[in-house]
Amino acid sequence: MTTFAHRITATDGAARTGLLQTAHGDIATPAFMPVGTAGTVKAMTADAVRATGADIVLGNTYHLMLRPGAERVASLGGLHRFMDWPGPILTDSGGFQVMSLAKLRKLDPDGVTFQSHLDGSTHRLTPARSIEIQHLLDATITMALDECTSFPATHDEAHASMQLSMRWAERSRDAFRQRDGYGLFGIVQGSIYPDLRAASARALTTIGFDGYAVGGLAIGEGQATTFTVLDATVPHLPTDAPRYLMGVGTPDDLIGAVQRGIDMFDCVIPTRAGRTARAYTSRGVFNLRNARFADDAAPLDTACFCLACTRHSRAYLHHLFKAEEILGPMLLTWHNVHYYQDLMRGLRAAIASRGLEAFASATRAAWAPEELS
Ligand SMILES: [Zn+2]
Repeated sequence: MTTFAHRITATDGAARTGLLQTAHGDIATPAFMPVGTAGTVKAMTADAVRATGADIVLGNTYHLMLRPGAERVASLGGLHRFMDWPGPILTDSGGFQVMSLAKLRKLDPDGVTFQSHLDGSTHRLTPARSIEIQHLLDATITMALDECTSFPATHDEAHASMQLSMRWAERSRDAFRQRDGYGLFGIVQGSIYPDLRAASARALTTIGFDGYAVGGLAIGEGQATTFTVLDATVPHLPTDAPRYLMGVGTPDDLIGAVQRGIDMFDCVIPTRAGRTARAYTSRGVFNLRNARFADDAAPLDTACFCLACTRHSRAYLHHLFKAEEILGPMLLTWHNVHYYQDLMRGLRAAIASRGLEAFASATRAAWAPEELS
């Protein structure tokens, strides 16, 4: 028997570290989930993703429902087998991508109707259908369907949008089939307004979820506001359940959010940056297209033990990007995901030894400003 349980083993201030036990294996928290949009973490094999130390990856319901289709994935044995990732998978609800990618979308009180950005075909997503799709994909962690409130929004707009999301959260809960080791997360909305965030957190807690996500952030409000919203939200969430900050962020964002009690993250930054020659390292951010790397025989990051850093030079990576060789994005994506996992390992160890403040200061100080590009 596997239960879906978050066992917190140490705390340091508001930060916590522990183990989330699931049907597909344990997740060390705080955890960073590489984004595997369409059944692949772009430019990486599943083995390579595992080798970075990632315990869990994210799949996108919107992309997978349109192509190859949730029923097809189910008939092929589920997303774990389909993408050769036996470990835990979290799928989003599809709502965010419907709003950002789909054409001719129309929102109503029961769901959203939209046209595929691929072929213009019409589809409908309701709370029950989103949960069903995620069930077909065999998601370890299923997300409730919500409406990501656009930014900026007035208090009235954010209130109405949050209330719709809370009704959908209840319908999502009703549609979810509880299974051993599987979990359903609710999503706190409420834009930048502390009273709405608190009300949303309380409404979700009343419904009762296996974990709680904070959504509708990192959409242009800025880091200071993101942190202010977290400060107004986290105290209203249950202590033991995992807390997931959706779509965040830079290494600096992750440190600040962990300090505020967040346990899980996902973001396209490390993978997207890897395809555009941007390297996240222990010394800051590099752009490997920069001509100053053409003759640089040093490893990208001497503190990193990924394939790119142990076997290759900055000059070689620079050359791969200049020559538009596909190995460039592959190696740099591997490195960036590895760096993010190194950061999470460091954060977990620092919380366990009650040295989070010192770790955060030292990590930030090492990001040399003159290297930023
Ligand atoms: Zn590396």
